[in-house]
Amino acid sequence: MVQKGNKRTYMLKFRYLIEVPENEGIGADARRMQYAQQIAKQIRTDIDTNLESVLGRIPNHLGWQSSNITVIDGEYLNSGRCAVCGMWVTDVDKPGLLDDLKRGATVGQRLLCWEHLPRDHWFFANEYT
Ligand SMILES: [Zn+2]
Repeated sequence: MVQKGNKRTYMLKFRYLIEVPENEGIGADARRMQYAQQIAKQIRTDIDTNLESVLGRIPNHLGWQSSNITVIDGEYLNSGRCAVCGMWVTDVDKPGLLDDLKRGATVGQRLLCWEHLPRDHWFFANEYT
C-alpha cells in the first residue's frame, strides 16, 4: 500500500436506482441500457457542472474516478424488494450477494430489508450490524 505522509484517500460511492420503461422486441435490452446510459451521462454532466461549488472548498479533491451501470433485477440475481417498504435488497441467506445493495433476508415467504427484519434474526448477531 502506498502512503504519502499522513494522507489517506477516500472513495465516495453513491448509488442511484432508476427504472427503465418496459421496451419490448428485438434489441429491447440494448435500448434499455442505452436509456440508462443517457441518464447516467446526464447525472455526470450535472455533477461536473456543480462540482466546483461543492468541492471548491475542499482543496484536495481528486475528481471523478469511475461510474458503472448494473442491472439489479435480472432473473438469476440475488436481489428483490422489501415486502414492507419496497427498498431494493440482496438476501444474506442466498449466494451471490450484490455488494451495492442493502442487506435483507427472507422470513417466511417475504423478503425484508434489514430495517424490517425481526430483531431476533441472525443477521443482527454478526458482522453486518
Ligand atoms: Zn423494508
